[in-house]
Amino acid sequence: MSPKAPITQDVLTLPRKLPEGKINLVGLTRDQLRAVLIEHGTPEKQAKMRTGQIWQWIYQWGVRDFAEMTNLAKAYRAQLAENFVIEIPEVVTRQVSEDGTRKYLCRIAGGHEVEVVYIPEEDRGTLCISSQVGCTLTCSFCHTGTQKLVRNLTAAEIVGQIMMARDDLDEWPTPGAPKDETRLLSNIVLMGMGEPLYNFENVRDAMKIAMDPEGISLSRRRITLSTSGVVPEIARTAEEIGCLLAISFHATTDETRDVLVPINKRWNIEELLQALASYPNASNSERITFEYVMLDGVNDSDEDAHRLIDHIKRYNIPAKINLIPFNEWPGAPYKRSSNNRIRAFANIIYHAGYASPIRKTRGEDIMAACGQLKSATERARKSRKQIEAETGLSR
Ligand code: SF4
Repeated sequence: MSPKAPITQDVLTLPRKLPEGKINLVGLTRDQLRAVLIEHGTPEKQAKMRTGQIWQWIYQWGVRDFAEMTNLAKAYRAQLAENFVIEIPEVVTRQVSEDGTRKYLCRIAGGHEVEVVYIPEEDRGTLCISSQVGCTLTCSFCHTGTQKLVRNLTAAEIVGQIMMARDDLDEWPTPGAPKDETRLLSNIVLMGMGEPLYNFENVRDAMKIAMDPEGISLSRRRITLSTSGVVPEIARTAEEIGCLLAISFHATTDETRDVLVPINKRWNIEELLQALASYPNASNSERITFEYVMLDGVNDSDEDAHRLIDHIKRYNIPAKINLIPFNEWPGAPYKRSSNNRIRAFANIIYHAGYASPIRKTRGEDIMAACGQLKSATERARKSRKQIEAETGLSR
């Protein structure tokens, strides 16, 4: 086996069809769950208790079969099975990298596929999940940006990615067993395919479910939503989700950011910084992460590093800067900055008083990179030339 070959790759081909006419309970808020239970025969007086019980089975114990919900009467379980299903995305392929990174290709309704990546680290395990199939934005360094938006994911499909990973990690606790506080899956980042703030309601509902203390129970401080800069939705993210925020910043002038992150033409750097400065949750303990992909000769100069610091200081934003060595994909119009350049850039930021971790490239052997996930089945639809022509950037 070559050193870059994935350790395992399973291909599961059986599609899981949603039985006709049944409602999927996954992804419903507690209120929605209560309402569908009542609609399908649960007496109103019992509905709150039943909602709590079913919620716990689904999200705390990871149960998918109503027959296993042993604190419910047999007849009631049968009634539930007649009307509802508990469905999550189906894993189509699963690859495990030499460094433990796991990349899944998941199939959702309509036969579409999204990618999910699990990254184990010493003190945490982070799952990078997707919010859309494809993306309407066309960030020129991002492989997803070369794929057209197909559709928004539902709340079920978003929280279902977390449930799918817990299945694969075999991390559902057993009812009655003592609570295990060490978690393989401890953090979520919304950095996969799509712009989460263009699918706000579904992302919000899915994250609320993931945070619910009687279920998956992830703290809001362990969830990071990464946006390219949908300025009008930023304050709403703090109010309605309350999670941490990351920004795909990537450039220090409007001229360059217009090309790298074209949403900048709509809301430019100044407008974005103003929105971040007033992000209600931001504090020294809840800093905003500036994601900055290092592209050789495009955004990686010393002047860029100084400008980046000026921007952040001017608005007094509690920030840390994540430097991301570009993960080149076939046909990509950019090259990764050299390690020396990345270190020099990081040093300038660090000496200005900001954390500037350089993201370790993980799972390169399986091409897994948060923020630029790519489908092995739909790779490199556009050539380097096409992208250059569209972005007006030639190198
Ligand atoms: S970086 Fe994010 S917002 Fe930009 S094209 Fe890629 S998936 Fe879309």
